[in-house]
Amino acid sequence: MSESTLRIGVLFPDVLGTYGDTGNALILAERARRRGIDAELVTVSLNEDIPAELDLYTLGGGEDTAQSLAAQKFRDDSGLLHALDAGKPLLAICASLQVLGHWYRDARDERVEGLGVLDVTTDPQGHRAIGELVCEPLLEGLTQPMSGFENHGGGTVLGPNARPLGRVIAGVGNGTPEGMTPEPIAYDGVVQGSVIATYMHGPVLARNPELADLLLTRATGLELAPLDVPGVEALRAERLDFACR
Ligand code: GLN
Repeated sequence: MSESTLRIGVLFPDVLGTYGDTGNALILAERARRRGIDAELVTVSLNEDIPAELDLYTLGGGEDTAQSLAAQKFRDDSGLLHALDAGKPLLAICASLQVLGHWYRDARDERVEGLGVLDVTTDPQGHRAIGELVCEPLLEGLTQPMSGFENHGGGTVLGPNARPLGRVIAGVGNGTPEGMTPEPIAYDGVVQGSVIATYMHGPVLARNPELADLLLTRATGLELAPLDVPGVEALRAERLDFACR
């Protein structure tokens, strides 16, 4: 951590904040505070510069038009690239996963250049994946099945430098671009460098506290004590049960 206060960035909630994804930053801050770690949210709007010196970054989902504004901004402002070069952790949801890739094609068949920090490309699937998504995590440090809500038209293909976050148990996850043969095993999300990206909304950290704590551990370098927040485990279990029905 750069200072005694953990500074959590919420980038462009004005264009990347669907389905309560900005809640991910609130959850990170609250889980830090309950362990005695001071935390503050740094909200950055689309017309502001991206600070490179925060401890942890969050990015949410967005509709195609909003998402293309964010992509343009990332191409113009190198703040996030500097932060990632310094190894700062970043959580990216859905549209942000697509924007961080080399490029994506949206529902209007427009190809939009991405930031290129994830070795992925995205094309339309020809249908929207909407509903509950459950994954078995593949990332070291995560042991519990994860659940979230997905709603996306894009299907994302991973290149050799990107690894999936989880294996899909229910739902679609990264999906398959139209015309491509689906892989026998479906995966969700992308892990590359200090970036963890997923198609799971929810917000995903409300439903998957283990992922929140993994991000906090990476951002603080501290070993975190277990945290028993009433209701969190009940929500996790209830959502998993609902999604697997
Ligand atoms: N617009 C993108 C898609 O439909 C991302 C949607 C989202 O962030 N929920 O694929």
